[in-house]
Amino acid sequence: MATAYLEEVNPWQAQVLRSDLATKKLKLHEGLWKILREPNREVIVHVPVQMDDGTLEIFTGFRVQHSIDRGPAKGGIRYSPNLTLDEARALASWMTWKCALVNIPFGGAAGGVICDPDKMSKRELERLTRRYTAELMEVLGPEKDVPGPDINTDEQIMAWIMDTYSMHVRHTVTAVVTGKPLELGGSHGRTEATGRGLMIVCDEALKRLRMDRDHTRVIIQGFGNVGSNAARLMHGRGYKIVGISTSTGGLYNKNGIDIDALWMYYKRTNTLMGFPDAVESDSAELLVADCDILIPAAVENQITSRNADRLKAKILCEGANGPTTAEADDILADKRMFVIPDILANSGGVTVSYFEWVQDRQGYFWLESEVNDQLEHTMRTSFTEVLQYAETHDVSNRIAAYMLAVDRVAYTLRLRGIYA
Ligand code: NAD
Repeated sequence: MATAYLEEVNPWQAQVLRSDLATKKLKLHEGLWKILREPNREVIVHVPVQMDDGTLEIFTGFRVQHSIDRGPAKGGIRYSPNLTLDEARALASWMTWKCALVNIPFGGAAGGVICDPDKMSKRELERLTRRYTAELMEVLGPEKDVPGPDINTDEQIMAWIMDTYSMHVRHTVTAVVTGKPLELGGSHGRTEATGRGLMIVCDEALKRLRMDRDHTRVIIQGFGNVGSNAARLMHGRGYKIVGISTSTGGLYNKNGIDIDALWMYYKRTNTLMGFPDAVESDSAELLVADCDILIPAAVENQITSRNADRLKAKILCEGANGPTTAEADDILADKRMFVIPDILANSGGVTVSYFEWVQDRQGYFWLESEVNDQLEHTMRTSFTEVLQYAETHDVSNRIAAYMLAVDRVAYTLRLRGIYA
């Protein structure tokens, strides 16, 4: 790959370019920005795991805490063969900005392990998760750093983290991790939260653009936690989902796909391929297919300088973290695309993770309707604040979201005694 393109698709660079720009617009004191720019702490662990065939493997894992200025660090655990420290750094700082943007009292963290869960048994994944958690005992904790699910990690993995942490401190600590099963202190509504949040901000965007939900065609990339829940909820609310994909391919039907039937089919077969009533399509082609809303909800760097000019959607709603490069931002701005940036669009997940943490610490659990109402309130408020900020400062929605977030974290630093 050409060096310039490699730079473009480095998630840490993508994060830095946007936050540097936001900081300049804010005229933030240079010293404050020096503090906020770099992650606070980066831990690298090499985790020995006994494999099912008796051999020993060493896996490398990371935990990056970008900021603990507004509260405990909070962020996902990702299992991926391609995970890098720069990716974890970017994800950790996006979490700092996201939590500040939706005004919840967390800083940002992220981490994970370089591994390929598709090639590992459940027992191997459990041993890996427990050992990774044990290595991080000093840095995790309900008051320090609270992991949650991300790519290739789910509520079972969160349950193993909770159990391992609890074994070490010799009492049950449910609030050390979020995205747990309900029976272990999980929250109603957490599984759907990121997808529900996407739907709420899409509803808000339609109001702004005076578009009608029943005639709005949506393409979603990814059918994991975020993509599948967004698809099911939006289908239920009347959006027409015309395209959807996973890493092994996608489907398109200009008249809309029956997502309930697709969900049943996917649960039975573990693939989208072969589903009747839709034509099979390449995931990359779906990004540039005809639609009104495009929701990338898979991995980073899907919308780059190489394809941004071919996007046809009116609204880009970023379910994934970092799906769009900074170079693509400029192209989308020229096309006057309405962008709902990742740190706003997918913040429903961490918002309900915060509700889960609160419930665990209180030992008092909310009804699903209460969780969803509070989530709706948070998403609508944050959406309005970002759009107002963008109008007032004459910047894009993305830079407005960064400015608002950076300003809030910087303000906390000042209150805590950093006199800059
Ligand atoms: P997941 O592992 O549950 O699902 C990922 C999905 O993406 C899978 O369906 C996979 O097949 C698909 N995928 C991977 N590469 C693809 C490609 N090239 N084309 C099409 N599909 C592809 O992960 P998730 O939890 O749904 O997370 C997805 C994204 O959302 C990530 O960027 C994550 O950081 C972000 N996110 C997740 C949450 C959450 O609550 N889980 C919250 C905020 C943001």
